[in-house]
Amino acid sequence: MRRFGHVINGATRAAASGAWRQVFEPATAQAYAEVADGDTADVDAAVAAASAAFPAWAALRNSERSLWLERLADALEARLDDFAHAEARDGGKPFALARDAEIPRAVSNLRFFAHAATQFGSESHHGEAGLNYTLRQPLGVVGTISPWNLPLYLFTWKIAPALAAGNTVVAKPSEVTPATATMLGELAAEIGFPAGVLNVVHGLGPAVGEAIVGHPSVKAVSFTGSTAVGRRIAGIAAPLLKKLSLELGGKNPTLVFADSDWQDQLDTIVRSAFQNSGQICLCGSRILVERPIYAAFRDALLERVLALRVGDPMDSDARIGPLVSQAHFDKVVAALERAREEGGRVLCGGGALDRPGWFVAPTLVEGLGPDCASNREEIFGPVATLQPFDSDDQALALANAGDYGLAASVWTRDLARAHRFGAELRCGIVWINTWLMRDLRTPFGGMGQSGLGREGGDDAMRFFTEARNVCIAR
Ligand code: NAD
Repeated sequence: MRRFGHVINGATRAAASGAWRQVFEPATAQAYAEVADGDTADVDAAVAAASAAFPAWAALRNSERSLWLERLADALEARLDDFAHAEARDGGKPFALARDAEIPRAVSNLRFFAHAATQFGSESHHGEAGLNYTLRQPLGVVGTISPWNLPLYLFTWKIAPALAAGNTVVAKPSEVTPATATMLGELAAEIGFPAGVLNVVHGLGPAVGEAIVGHPSVKAVSFTGSTAVGRRIAGIAAPLLKKLSLELGGKNPTLVFADSDWQDQLDTIVRSAFQNSGQICLCGSRILVERPIYAAFRDALLERVLALRVGDPMDSDARIGPLVSQAHFDKVVAALERAREEGGRVLCGGGALDRPGWFVAPTLVEGLGPDCASNREEIFGPVATLQPFDSDDQALALANAGDYGLAASVWTRDLARAHRFGAELRCGIVWINTWLMRDLRTPFGGMGQSGLGREGGDDAMRFFTEARNVCIAR
């Protein structure tokens, strides 16, 4: 059976305790590998390696760090199919999605921040009081903690800016999907990355994640995951006055206006709800539709959703794979039961598929208001609700109902309305007539229960550096 070890100081190794955990293949619900079950001892070893590597890494010229990231991107790109295959097996996502979108995006993350290393500047201020210039210096050892839904995509989204800015990293991928982070750590070692610069430590959140957050030598933590865990991490980091970036859950609205080209955009709207079985923090799980088109839109959407092919991730026609784990499957199935109890009308799907693996049928539910749990709590599965609205004000109120504030998409041809919703939707990302279109320079993140801070572009480089003002009297 394949074993995914830690990658510490450039070498793959077992947990100090010798413990391993099973890793399951979502399409079969069978264990197919084992992952090192780390604890504080492994985090200590990784932090020691990262601390030792920091001075030399930070002292490299920006262009040299940039080159290392480019080399890693090249090596990953050369093995794109292997990584996509591993991602599909480990997380249950369609192979085509991993090969065509997610692993290429991981390559782009590395390349983008390779460029950032050479392009990142800092400010100077003069004309008022002396000559001031800002140094933006690396923090030292930083921790990254990432989730299972976009394993390598989000892993690289964090480690790339951290490394580009001159930090060394202790990275914890999700214990549910450890494959590609391990492979990337090993690939870095293979191409001769300086030992200790990128360390991968596996294990459960309370054992390894909390040890990283609480470690006195870890200067900042970048976390993506659930709101509940984000809150827990904030509780540990706050008294230590540790720099923290939190990218958390979402319950995103999709607003479809009668004047939009919705018939032509249905594929994107369907993707926005169901891509990766709805297991993307940016998926639009609350579809709000202007009443005059409600019935026509619902029927057309239903037809498309019924046509979505659910199947084995390796089947090239499959658009929807299984959910990632037994625990997550149980949570989504319970949420569907709750939607029925709340009075929702299930238009399609509504439960598990009768086959091995953690498959849930793509589900549409109507007849539920903004206050029910189905429209307030993140389900993170192939489930979307439909609600009609009668005016722009009502659409805005429905969209902004709830505690999350990550993303929204608005479908309209009315420019004035687009600008109004762009400004008044309470969330960090608004897409107009598109979804998941990403320019990596833009600020990425949410408000409210969706998180604190922004990633991407300069925001990420600033997060991973400390600003120091130097003032010279003239
Ligand atoms: P999770 O919070 O359960 O786990 C995320 C990571 O945190 C994992 O590596 C896990 O091992 C670790 N962890 C768990 N408990 C911990 C603890 N006590 N201390 C430190 N680390 C701990 O989330 P998940 O189930 O893996 O991912 C799904 C969630 O992630 C959803 O809520 C989704 O919305 C969110 N998400 C958000 C974004 C975003 O950019 N805002 C992107 C993707 C996913």
